[in-house]
Amino acid sequence: KITSKEYVEYIELVTKKIEENKDYITKLDSITGDGDHWVNINMGFQKLVENKELLLSLKLGDMFKKIGMLIMSTVGGSSGVLYGSAFIGAAKTIGDKEEMDINLLCDVLEAELNAIMERGNAKPNFKTMIDSMYPAVNALKDALDKKLDDYDALQAMKQGAIDGMNSTKDMEAVRGRACYQPNKGVGHLDPGAVTMCYQLEVLVDYLC
Ligand code: ADP
Ligand code: MG
Ligand code: MG
Repeated sequence: KITSKEYVEYIELVTKKIEENKDYITKLDSITGDGDHWVNINMGFQKLVENKELLLSLKLGDMFKKIGMLIMSTVGGSSGVLYGSAFIGAAKTIGDKEEMDINLLCDVLEAELNAIMERGNAKPNFKTMIDSMYPAVNALKDALDKKLDDYDALQAMKQGAIDGMNSTKDMEAVRGRACYQPNKGVGHLDPGAVTMCYQLEVLVDYLC
């Protein structure tokens, strides 16, 4: 069961994972975009960690809404708006529930995915963060439909995220700055797909 306390612990782990990959993410966004993706996403997560006590004091849904607002007001670039919308969308799905089990987690991730697709007017295969999240969420949904146990369902989600991230390498960008590159980013992973994959992987590792 995930309450605000577990979610904040998870955020601290994601923040570490992002910190550790500064050079790699910066390099990917320098090749395919404008080089600031690591700075953007790191700034957002650092802001959340700075506000840890405030987040811990909130019920799950209110915490998600606050996370969305903090990210929206701190993070520049596409990722600020997209992640902000994702968390605010998730907050509506959580409502006044104080904890989530794996089924609610699945609904929450799906709400985040839908919010990102709507806000960014984007679909799978556009070489964006969606390409890690969409296969991950679908793998989790399938696994839950097949009544796999939580461990196996979460591992399926993690594999979906990793495969999805890797699939962005050969994609031509349809959204994001990579679509202004002469080769549309072909041959390089999408930085946003990589940082989205980190978040999903760390979530699975935290819960398993
Ligand atoms: P910016 O491109 O404004 O500099 P960032 O570098 O922080 O913002 O984020 C870039 C990432 O955002 C891309 O790698 C991609 O994954 C994601 N992205 C960009 N545009 C969209 C969109 N319309 N829909 C979904 N994701 C997008
Ligand atoms: Mg950028
Ligand atoms: Mg930018």
